[in-house]
Amino acid sequence: MSIYDAIIIGTGPAGATVARHVAAAGLNTLLLEKDTLPRVKTCGGAVSKYALSNLDIEIPDSIIERECFGARIRYGSCSLESETCERLSVMVSRDRFDHHLTKIAVDAGAELMEDVRVISVQTDNDCAIVETTVGTFRSKVVIGADGVNSVCAKNVRGSFTQQETSFALEAEIPASNEQIDNYIFNKGEFYFGIIPNGYGWVFPKDEHFSVGIAGRGQGFSRPMDAYRDFIKMLGFDYVKPRGHFVPIGGLDRKTYSNRILLVGDAAGYVDAFLGEGIAYAIASGNFAAETVINAHQKDDFSETSLASYHKRCMDSFLPNLKYSYIFSKWFYRFPNLSSRILVNNEPLLNKFIHLATGRWGYLFFMKWIALRLPYYVIKDVIGRR
Ligand SMILES: Cc1cc2nc3c(=O)[nH]c(=O)nc-3n(C[C@H](O)[C@H](O)[C@H](O)COP(=O)(O)OP(=O)(O)OC[C@H]3O[C@@H](n4cnc5c(N)ncnc54)[C@H](O)[C@@H]3O)c2cc1C
Repeated sequence: MSIYDAIIIGTGPAGATVARHVAAAGLNTLLLEKDTLPRVKTCGGAVSKYALSNLDIEIPDSIIERECFGARIRYGSCSLESETCERLSVMVSRDRFDHHLTKIAVDAGAELMEDVRVISVQTDNDCAIVETTVGTFRSKVVIGADGVNSVCAKNVRGSFTQQETSFALEAEIPASNEQIDNYIFNKGEFYFGIIPNGYGWVFPKDEHFSVGIAGRGQGFSRPMDAYRDFIKMLGFDYVKPRGHFVPIGGLDRKTYSNRILLVGDAAGYVDAFLGEGIAYAIASGNFAAETVINAHQKDDFSETSLASYHKRCMDSFLPNLKYSYIFSKWFYRFPNLSSRILVNNEPLLNKFIHLATGRWGYLFFMKWIALRLPYYVIKDVIGRR
């Protein structure tokens, strides 16, 4: 049986990115996907400017449903908007976005097999052995891009514990583009204070809103009820949401072992505060591809050889994910005070929205707030008297 140079599991932004690069470098690449493409992916579909900056290909206008230039924050009866002339994100539907990335990977030479579920991955001295619902495949290296419930990750670390994940619910609520323009137009809307350790969102799309909530911890034990209450509060028609776990980023986790690399959600690379994962899926996909191409040149797929992947992620985005986790802890330690401060101080919101550009990281943002925190707290106390 022939041995592939690389097998990639999953056609999300992480897997499609790795497959495109390694196939373009001439490696004999197999891309496995358990669903039929285009497949549904539960997601808000906000692709930040930072995410786009990691992507070295253009996204066609036909896939971009809206462009966002600002945000509206809500907490209780308070509301605050901020807008810039800089495009902060584009809104996409993940079925079309991911399918587009996958088609480009196939054009670059990757072999795609749909409706093939990976059951297990084993490694030995000569290759990695991937057992699937249609048979067994062999490869020099395997990239686990199979999301939060990664099968591949079991060979690298244990599955995520409940404490290491958030839970998110999302539905597409039909609306005319005119209704969307009148409601929010070109901004993302974020609701704080409606669920513990998380938030709700309303994102503008084409002929629908993406409406969702994401939270974690014991206080978030009845997510369906929380979602129904959120929709009722918004005055929107109820559409049954889909749920999905999201890894909490910023925690130390192993992401490589002999002949295996984990990318995107499978590696736990998600912003712990906002839940943004597409940017990190693409970024880690880029670094994994680079590592795999180097490993082929050296013909060395050992854990030691693949360790350079972690270093590349560490030099790039891992510190920001760590600070997103610290910020999240900080914010939800005093959720009411934090939300009030965010919704009552425009300069703060102006800085907050710049997290989407990648120019501002959480550490920079936290330092900026720390200097002004006494003023914001005193202002809040006086305002509440
Ligand atoms: C409700 C919700 C809203 C979100 N909103 C946003 C947002 O607005 N912006 C943002 O940046 N991030 C958002 N995220 C996070 C984002 O969706 C993920 O971080 C991102 O999809 C990770 O990409 P990935 O390629 O690692 O994995 P995924 O996109 O999850 O792709 C994994 C792929 O692997 C396939 N697969 C899984 N198991 C197997 C198997 N055993 N065999 C074969 N194939 C398999 C799956 O079918 C899937 O195609 C949201 C998440 C949720 C749940």
